[in-house]
Amino acid sequence: MYNGEKRIDRPLRWGMVGGGRTGQVGYKHRTGALRDNTAYRLVCGAFDLDAARGRDFGLNLGVAEDRLYPDYKTLIAEEAKREDGVEVVTIATPNFTHYQITRACLEAGLHVICEKPLFFTVAECEEIAALAEARGLIVGVTYGFTGHPLVRQMAAMVKKGMLGEIRLVDLRYTHGFNAGDDANASEAQRWRTDPRTSGPTFVLGDIGTHVHYLSEIVLPHMKIERLLCDRQSFIRSRAPLEDNAHVLTHYDNGAVGRLWVSSVDAGNMGSQRYRFVGSKAAVEWTDSRPDQLIYEVQGEPVRILHHGMPYLEAESLDLDRMGALHTEGLGDSWANIYLWIAQAIDAKSRGDAAFLETHHYPGIEAGTEGVRWLEACVRSADAGSTWVDYDQAPTRTEATETQDA
Ligand code: NAD
Repeated sequence: MYNGEKRIDRPLRWGMVGGGRTGQVGYKHRTGALRDNTAYRLVCGAFDLDAARGRDFGLNLGVAEDRLYPDYKTLIAEEAKREDGVEVVTIATPNFTHYQITRACLEAGLHVICEKPLFFTVAECEEIAALAEARGLIVGVTYGFTGHPLVRQMAAMVKKGMLGEIRLVDLRYTHGFNAGDDANASEAQRWRTDPRTSGPTFVLGDIGTHVHYLSEIVLPHMKIERLLCDRQSFIRSRAPLEDNAHVLTHYDNGAVGRLWVSSVDAGNMGSQRYRFVGSKAAVEWTDSRPDQLIYEVQGEPVRILHHGMPYLEAESLDLDRMGALHTEGLGDSWANIYLWIAQAIDAKSRGDAAFLETHHYPGIEAGTEGVRWLEACVRSADAGSTWVDYDQAPTRTEATETQDA
């Protein structure tokens, strides 16, 4: 169990770009970072495209007036002048801004925590990974539920062989919030359905990357060999971006998977569901009942495992924050993710390569993997929903050559 005691010497000086008053995800970042008073201090922000609203919002969060900036460029320039300047910046802005803001932060020597989908192309991810490596900086990526103790329990059970050889992977993240048309769409909805601001996908990037990354955590020993993606725009104005998609997957151990993501699943208030089936048993978890994990051994009564109970694996119990009597949810998961990223930043700053070798956190590789998966999905869907080899995404050099041509 974790109770918030310090795991790094001192809290990191932290700032935010985006995530302002009207932003959907900003509070989740603050919940994650500030839950433990020992990991981060919010010292500055450029919270909003509307500078006056962002300033007012920052004042209400208790940020000092002289550290509330009209835009990210001013934040970077002004903070660089201070001895106690910001060390790590969260980017909680629409997708199309991630790359440019990340690059600017890294060039100024700042660590970054960026939203998913990380960037538009793998080529951009590889370029940023090289820049971060050269500057000795961390790029973290926030995949919300991957810090939940029962997600780690599933991973531990697979690793121990409790399910046998994995055969079937069944993933789903759907909701119905975009079942209607976009006539009165919010700001957040408008940029999500425009390829210039969302990138090459809508729901695949918006929610599919979460499900894909979580499955990677549970199944680190399995690699995707090929996939087939079928995507639709039920609301025609969203084309070419999909509001619904199915992805079939073949893994290198012979397992097969299916994934469904949708924002037009009318009536569904939003749920993620994960089912991993092996030769002996299955586990199933949904964020609608985050405290419970269903464990089904073939031929035996169904078991419901509860978070925080001593019969769980150490990997799960170590992350538990609330104890079995109380609900463990999304905020707790975010707090774990933020803590892991803080530990990675601390270790990087101290040059502790041995710590980083074994420390698990969602870093630039996790962000890149999400974008690689999206590129493969689009390649398949746009070729008429055909099977495509997974590792055929254009390499950095190929992408650059195409641009140059
Ligand atoms: P949103 O449109 O609701 O909010 C965006 C915020 O960023 C607003 O406050 C806006 O004023 C601000 N902003 C936009 N451009 C800016 C700029 N250049 N400088 C400063 N501020 C700027 O969007 P959202 O739903 O919060 O999504 C933001 C990002 O978070 C997206 O990449 C999205 O995919 C991701 N997201 C992730 C999760 C998750 O669970 N990890 C959940 C929701 C959204």
